[in-house]
Amino acid sequence: MSICTDLPNKMKTIKCPNKRCKHEWNYSGTARFYATCPICRYKVWIDWTAEQLEVLEQIKELEEEMKSEQGVGSNNKEDEV
Ligand SMILES: [Zn+2]
Repeated sequence: MSICTDLPNKMKTIKCPNKRCKHEWNYSGTARFYATCPICRYKVWIDWTAEQLEVLEQIKELEEEMKSEQGVGSNNKEDEV
């Protein structure tokens, strides 16, 4: 059984502001603020919509759940606020 985290809502087209690059790609990561351009490593601000941020939060929760299911024996003591 696998949880589908591949929500189309979180897909975002990002354009690299670097004048020498201008690469455009579909970002599907879960970073809250910055995406890294795969070509020039430029850090690009992601302007998520409120809806997309909600989806991100849900994905992160799912990931945490999956981690704690797998990681039996290792206590997760990281408090992410
Ligand atoms: Zn770039």
